Amino acid sequence: MTPKVARFLAEQQPATPCLVLDIDRVAEKFRALREALPLATIYYAVKANPAPQVLGRLAALGSSFDAAGAEEIDACLAAGARPEAISFGNTIKKISAIRRAVAAGVQMFAFDSAEELDKLAQHAPGSRVYCRIMVENAGADWPLSRKFGTTLESARELMVRAGELGLDPYGLSFHVGSQQTDTASYEAAIGRVGMLFTDLRDAGVNLRMVNLGGGFPVRYRDEVPDIEAFGNAIMGAMTKHFGNALPEMIVEPGRFIVGDAGVVSAEVVLVSRRGADPVRWVYLDIGRFGGLAETEGEAIKYRIATTHDGTPTGPVAIAGPTCDGADILYERSNYRLPLALTTGDRVELLATGAYVTTYASQRFNGFAPLAEHYV
Ligand SMILES: *Cc1c(COP(=O)(O)O)cnc(C)c1O
Repeated sequence: MTPKVARFLAEQQPATPCLVLDIDRVAEKFRALREALPLATIYYAVKANPAPQVLGRLAALGSSFDAAGAEEIDACLAAGARPEAISFGNTIKKISAIRRAVAAGVQMFAFDSAEELDKLAQHAPGSRVYCRIMVENAGADWPLSRKFGTTLESARELMVRAGELGLDPYGLSFHVGSQQTDTASYEAAIGRVGMLFTDLRDAGVNLRMVNLGGGFPVRYRDEVPDIEAFGNAIMGAMTKHFGNALPEMIVEPGRFIVGDAGVVSAEVVLVSRRGADPVRWVYLDIGRFGGLAETEGEAIKYRIATTHDGTPTGPVAIAGPTCDGADILYERSNYRLPLALTTGDRVELLATGAYVTTYASQRFNGFAPLAEHYV
């Protein structure tokens, strides 16, 4: 937790649950990534946290933006982004959204199927398009790839076809999976992209851009490699596969930029013993439906701080406050919390700045969407 967040929580004692996010920390992470990968243009993945305060700060720092829909494009423009600095990165776009993007001046679009390419040819004629290829998501705590991306063979055909349809076959993209903890996954993906660049050059299509996606990890319960390690692995692989004819490089970080800037402050609603269960059950006033969607499958394991830290702990299951049986955060991940923890105590879930506020449900069981404070 940053000193600014700690001070806000201590002085304001905001009602729980809420997210408190330090915008200066967002700027620090943006600069750290820019230093680790100076040749890449950063397109912040808006979906990770679309708060106007986050978008505005990043726009002022010269960030570009990866948007998933028309509303996110509007949010970027309202935050001061230029339309040429916005990529419509979702491979599944409503026609109305494509048309709105074109009208707003957006020039770059992702696709991964012939059908979507046809939509772009019709509704975004002449625009720059890039094809998303499927890559291994091993090593990612929040994998994405079964839903997205296409094979190298089909990407090759589609990029040739893009030119024939009057579009600008601009580049290739991949996403190695979110919270990717293995730098080798980028190296392997870059190798695949490099092969396809060569194939397509032989077919008369000169691509100019590689979009390396997001995936850069945040430190949750386990340590992760630092961003320099990812930068070095990526540049090593780019040089190996492209020599000194490096194409334009794009990265689309979401989690890395905002994750550890935010803290969710929550309250213990109940600590109970349930029958012969050897663990205590700790119920918080935030759960799966209050924004902690990435605890699905116990995939993302947030660190939890309490006012009793440093005192003896015992095993716990941790759950949310709703009447839904799926509203359990952690049951199998061997969480331990202080034995002194009791009803009414405040707890803090650390590094919750990404993929939390927008995942909060609307009034399920009457609970309001998560409150947000940007400091
Ligand atoms: C979600 C997403 C990102 C951001 O991923 P992170 O793992 O949060 O960095 C980047 N690009 C695309 C296309 C995405 O869908």
